[in-house]
Amino acid sequence: MDRDIIIVGGGPSGLSTALHIQRIDPHLAPRVLILEKARYPRPKLCAGGLVIDAEVILERLGLDVSEIPHVDVESIHFDFHARGLEIRMPKRHALRVIRRDEFDTWLAEKAKSRGIEIKESISVKNIIPDKDGVTVETDNGTFHAQVVVGADGSNGITRRCIFPHAPVYTARALEVITPSRSPRNTKYSREAPRGQEEAFFDFFPVPDNIAGYVWGFPTQVHGEPTRCWGIYDTNLLSNEKRPQLKEPLAKEMSRRGFDLDNYELKGHPIRWFSPDNPMSASRVLLVGDAIGADSIFGEGISVALGYGRLAARELKSAFEQNDFSFDRYKTHILMSPLGQALLARWFITYIIYSLKWKWFQVLLWRIMKPIVLVVAWIFVLNWGRRMQKL
Ligand SMILES: Cc1cc2nc3c(=O)[nH]c(=O)nc-3n(C[C@H](O)[C@H](O)[C@H](O)COP(=O)(O)OP(=O)(O)OC[C@H]3O[C@@H](n4cnc5c(N)ncnc54)[C@H](O)[C@@H]3O)c2cc1C
Repeated sequence: MDRDIIIVGGGPSGLSTALHIQRIDPHLAPRVLILEKARYPRPKLCAGGLVIDAEVILERLGLDVSEIPHVDVESIHFDFHARGLEIRMPKRHALRVIRRDEFDTWLAEKAKSRGIEIKESISVKNIIPDKDGVTVETDNGTFHAQVVVGADGSNGITRRCIFPHAPVYTARALEVITPSRSPRNTKYSREAPRGQEEAFFDFFPVPDNIAGYVWGFPTQVHGEPTRCWGIYDTNLLSNEKRPQLKEPLAKEMSRRGFDLDNYELKGHPIRWFSPDNPMSASRVLLVGDAIGADSIFGEGISVALGYGRLAARELKSAFEQNDFSFDRYKTHILMSPLGQALLARWFITYIIYSLKWKWFQVLLWRIMKPIVLVVAWIFVLNWGRRMQKL
């Protein structure tokens, strides 16, 4: 055996799994190896919005994300055609926005400093479990382990090797970065004063069969204030003829004084959580997007960090009992505060996007504000604090 535990992928879910193993069972830490196909700092298409649950999990690991460049968002707007509800948090930011190249590099450095070995620039090509262990074939040799953790993202090789015929619920997301200030003034292009930045999610594309929203976050790139825009579609409403995503994004940006054609547009799928999704097999666990991100928003960083916490517990008890079937892993996920939040979000996704009519969206975002806030507070957010402490 090269190592007892090989983690495929060094994004938030893989790094969180390793950091939690180190915290929960320090003797296991030197027996962990992360294989990452890229080299840090590596680009990752992501708006970088960290909700409170991500910060809670990091704090419990003894990590302070404010060490890296970030922008704190004071208020978040959930709108339908630019009107809806606003969320502020008492005495704290509503959202913290990081850049993923910086965040993942920082997290990888923390893992290395706590004794976790990461081999970069190694791409896993095949994963073959048998009754004695798992063979991991890469572009740089073959490794053997007792167990493999698939932390390789939405399109990861682990899931494709182990569950080639599993159902795949995949959202589309497009993203673009612009300067923070619009080149031309429109009614909506007013900048919030520094320190009072706002983020928005606008669900105006839903009646046009885009089961998602357009977003805009303040962010920074190498210390320069910028803005991240994007559009997310769960694909719940699309038939074979998928609606174009570029047009509604361009429309919203134009309304705020930006011309999308002047900037580089990038896209990436996001696999979202459904209770149907496979989560483990004998000697193999999945974490992060490999299982699925939140389905309403495609919010997956906090979720990835949370899966890491649950996987580490599962690995500790597997090695204690010498039982690598992992047949209770899915039950443990679904019963955890993270799993309950993901189940609630999955259920809410089908309601808010299937009822796509304009009148319902107006009712939801503009009229039912108190109900939406209570549901969000109880079922959608705050699962991080309910997770068992280390
Ligand atoms: C456009 C867009 C915007 C988003 N915005 C947000 C947001 O604002 N907030 C939020 O919470 N979430 C957001 N997300 C979702 C978030 O990015 C993901 O949920 C999160 O990155 C999942 O983490 P992960 O560790 O599971 O996977 P990843 O971050 O995808 O990490 C997987 C890692 O595995 C490595 N890897 C892949 N294949 C192999 C292989 N064969 N061998 C070795 N290594 C491999 C990759 O290089 C990568 O480092 C967004 C996603 C997109 C696409």
